Amino acid sequence: MAMSRAIQLALIFALPIAVLSALIVVDRTYGLPGRGYDYVLRIELPPAEAEIGLPDVHGPQDASRPLVVIDAGHGGHDPGAGQGRTREKTVTLAIAQAIRDNLLDGGGIRVALTRDSDRYLMLGERSSIARRLKADLFLSIHADSAESEMARGASVYVLSEKGSSQAAVRIAAHENKADVVNGVALSNQSEAVNAILLDLSQSESRAASVDLAGLVLRELRGKTRLHGGEVQSAAFAVLKAPDVPSVLFETGYISNPGDAAYLSSDKGRKIVSAAAARAVRAYFARRTEV
Ligand SMILES: [Zn+2]
Repeated sequence: MAMSRAIQLALIFALPIAVLSALIVVDRTYGLPGRGYDYVLRIELPPAEAEIGLPDVHGPQDASRPLVVIDAGHGGHDPGAGQGRTREKTVTLAIAQAIRDNLLDGGGIRVALTRDSDRYLMLGERSSIARRLKADLFLSIHADSAESEMARGASVYVLSEKGSSQAAVRIAAHENKADVVNGVALSNQSEAVNAILLDLSQSESRAASVDLAGLVLRELRGKTRLHGGEVQSAAFAVLKAPDVPSVLFETGYISNPGDAAYLSSDKGRKIVSAAAARAVRAYFARRTEV
């Protein structure tokens, strides 16, 4: 029995290759109508990201409505930054949930959270959720920490150029299914064209990321303390989804006792989350006006 199983397996693998080889020989020799000389033997592998279930999408059950994925940083065995009893993972989850509730109250926008409980997700899984849900925006919520207790205030980040193109290379290489970036199917294009399309797609989503980041800063200004008044950029792994505009929002310095108390308070959470929600609404409003 073992022998015939081995033969079965050999046939399963050998047969398509034999058929393909025969086709190539026939084509080379006689030419098959309507076919060029490009052959792709594609074996479908289950995507690596298949293990993580997708979160619920809240809001209007209408796929044409814009979708924002809000990512509460850290979680589970990864508490993030800490100050006394204040844990970053707890602060980020409460703020992410508050932004979601605010957006849902306003209506018209769909919202999903990468995590809605105290659980751990890898960085790649977070942006992967946004990509797989075909989100229009990805907003990752964090709280900074610094050696100096003096540092405080909110900052807003986008992915730096350098990180962006590394992400593009990685995505292009890893995505066997090759497929779709901003609605453009890549699999039928040459590699050079693919690279250009990824670049275009990225510069579009980078511009959109900077737009959202600027709106978050605008909405925070005068209402809460800012660490820097400008959009920052850095190679955050969680922002590496080249086709989803992505922003990382450091809501404050949890290493600063004042900020830690503010971010843990109802008042601070409300102010910060309402500003982020207004920014998201303004971002989508700009895009539907055009
Ligand atoms: Zn963090």
